[in-house]
Formats: sequence, C-alpha cells, structure tokens
Amino acid sequence: KGDPRLEAISEAIRVIPHFPKQGIMFQDITTLLLNHKVFKHTVDIFVDRYKNMDISVVAGIEARGFMFGPSIALAIGAKFVPLRKPGKLPGEVIYEAYELEYGEDCLEMHIGAVQQGEKAVVIDDLVATGGTLSAAIKLLERMGAEVVECACVIGLPEVKGQSRLDGKPLYILVEPR
Ligand code: AMP
Repeated sequence: KGDPRLEAISEAIRVIPHFPKQGIMFQDITTLLLNHKVFKHTVDIFVDRYKNMDISVVAGIEARGFMFGPSIALAIGAKFVPLRKPGKLPGEVIYEAYELEYGEDCLEMHIGAVQQGEKAVVIDDLVATGGTLSAAIKLLERMGAEVVECACVIGLPEVKGQSRLDGKPLYILVEPR
C-alpha cells in the first residue's frame, strides 16, 4: 500500500452494475488493458514479487487469468499453464468441480503440463469466494506441483482480511471501489 501504481490500477477498472445479472457489480479489467501504462504496472508488480522465488509455473484461469498470466510467465522465465473450462483442452486432462453462487463449474488441466515438485503461482483477475482458485490449487497439487501463492488483481470484500486460501497465501492488488 502507498504505491501510486495501485491507485492507478484501481481507477482503471470499470465497474458495470448488474452484469451478467441483477445485483452483480462486475469488475471490468478490459479498461485496464486499454491503458498501456497501467497494464504494465499491473504485470510489473506481479513480476517483481515472483521473479526471485524459483517459480517455474504460472497457471492462468480462463479467461481473464489468460490476460495477465503469460506476460508474467515470460518475464519471470516460467512456463504458462492454462486452466480451462470443460471441453476446451484437447489432450488428456484432470478436472476439479467447484461450487458457484448458483450451481457448479469445472476447471481442467492437461496431464503432463507440470512436473512433480515444480513451484507454481495461480493467476486470475478477481477472487470472490475463492472457489475457482481452490479448484486450481487442487489441480496443480494433484500433479505434484507446489502452489506458492494465488494472485489476483482484485479481491472482493468476501475475502477481505483473509490473506490465505486453503492454507495458501493470497496476494491481491486492489479492492473494488
Ligand atoms: P470465486 O470463485 O467466487 O472466487 O469467483 C471468481 C471468478 O469469478 C473469477 O474467475 C472472476 O473472473 C469471476 N467473478 C466473480 N465475481 C466477479 C465480479 N464481480 N466481477 C468480475 N468477475 C467476477
């Protein structure tokens, strides 16, 4: 905190009320991506944090984790592993189902994408209940990877004050305005 870049990041995120349904305050990071300086600040903060931590895997969650993860992976010298919605990955996969506010969803990962003992960070745009990140942690751990931390641009108040998720550290840049 006290980093002026965080203020700029917070201001670059557009809030769209009642999308995709009534009552949801949608945090739209596409407006952040339009601003090269702020987009770079966002990636830089994660890169500075993870560059000297011996991390060889950046796992990004479909779809908005794909917008930050690859840039971070390239900058820290790690591989990028996409964690995708069901039926999208063409190879052999493992999957984890997780609870949503209404119903259930699922994430898949390619078998062979990570090796036993690799250190990983999980990236998404936003954490609300943490259900999505929990599924990501399980996928990586089932393959023998060590999840060092989960990182999101935005953390909703549900996770406020909760700096850990399933025993893993949770790193958040900003809260909704
Ligand atoms: P959760 O599993 O409850 O932590 O939800 C996080 C996932 O849902 C992330 O992949 C987010 O992109 C998406 N999400 C949840 N709530 C919002 C919101 N208010 N604005 C934008 N994305 C959201």
